Amino acid sequence: MVAVEERDMQAVGAWGHNARLDVERIRADFPALEQQVYGRPLVYLDNAATAQKPRSVIEAVCGHYRRDAANVHRAVHALSSRATLAYEEARDRVCRFLNAPARETIVFTRGATEGINLVAYGWGRHHLREGDEILLTEMEHHSNLVPWQLLAQATGAQLRFLRVRRDGTLNLDELDTLLTERTKLVAFTHVSNVLGTINPAATIIDAAHRVGAITLLDAAQSVPHMPVDVQALDVDLLVFSGHKLGGPTSSGALYGKREILESMEPFLAGGDMISSVWLDHAAWNEVPWKFEAGTPAIAEQIGLGAAVEYLTSVGMEAIHAHEQRLTAYALAQLQAIPAVEIYGEAPARAGVISFLVAGIHPHDLAQLLDQEGIAVRAGNHCAQPLHRVLDQVATCRASFYLYNTEAEVDALVAGIRRAQRFFGVE
Ligand code: PMP
Repeated sequence: MVAVEERDMQAVGAWGHNARLDVERIRADFPALEQQVYGRPLVYLDNAATAQKPRSVIEAVCGHYRRDAANVHRAVHALSSRATLAYEEARDRVCRFLNAPARETIVFTRGATEGINLVAYGWGRHHLREGDEILLTEMEHHSNLVPWQLLAQATGAQLRFLRVRRDGTLNLDELDTLLTERTKLVAFTHVSNVLGTINPAATIIDAAHRVGAITLLDAAQSVPHMPVDVQALDVDLLVFSGHKLGGPTSSGALYGKREILESMEPFLAGGDMISSVWLDHAAWNEVPWKFEAGTPAIAEQIGLGAAVEYLTSVGMEAIHAHEQRLTAYALAQLQAIPAVEIYGEAPARAGVISFLVAGIHPHDLAQLLDQEGIAVRAGNHCAQPLHRVLDQVATCRASFYLYNTEAEVDALVAGIRRAQRFFGVE
């Protein structure tokens, strides 16, 4: 049996217990939160889908377009060198944010999905063959499932899955049998975007390394909300999306250990990813630019740099502690309504709560809440296989970020009670 490592337990419990956020001050940094929706103050609880943007990010993006709109890495003129400097500085900021060992280990992508596809094509198609295995889990977002299905079809490799237990944790007891010398890659989510489960990443990574497999961590739901240190985790590859941490859409990064990035082939081909080109062949640029073909998302990645600076200035430990407190409060309030069923009871859980209210379809509930200015998500949250395990087609999901308050949780709970009265299912 694989025991959960001390590092994973510490990561969940011990951060910043005493750190308190000045949430009202933080809220003032997010212009979108000032608005009313249908005449009611916006209560934004769809942060697992995307986060609101602080003023510093909006200014960084606008500033680029106002003064420095030029292509990067190509021209010698002033605007281009300013744009290049800002774009590459954003890489340094992301590098520090993840505690990556070198700036060259940070590849800019348009988000977690593109990062996973980059690995599936750039690494998978050149390193896997028939008989090899890829270990995933039942709780993956479609983005960390479908690229591996395509890769399996192309290479003859087999997909294997760690199952999810009733309480929303992964069944680690299966690791011993699922991990063999055939396993070449273990790709799994750090935090479930449905159940909120914080998976014991270091434990799974170490187990994968013991059989010689490499690991890819889908950190789309962890990097925005808790300190993530790629060196402490010893993870081989990690992806996240900028828009979920207050950055622009189409920003994000893939972290990779240098030797793994070096062993990969390009994903997209074109300008900037080459060192020299002849009519019939070409040689590649160095890592990470080898993976950044064409004009990149310049303003967006500069905005991502501003977002991680903003989060760092608030403090990731304090953000995590705030969300832990808010989640505990929300769980207690929701559990007090007998008709509410919550999916995911992992002891280590993040601020994502999926639930159903007996007698009310999740889409109807989301629509009624919207009329009160409360934004939640209803659906399968891009995790259909997990919803099959839960035996549900759809759930309602409330998800928190650094700017959410207990008063907003109260508004959600009051909204649910009103919906129960509306449908006569109290
Ligand atoms: N993985 C997880 C766990 C996610 O929650 C999401 C976004 N919902 C993704 C991957 C994909 O992120 P993106 O759409 O930004 O590429």
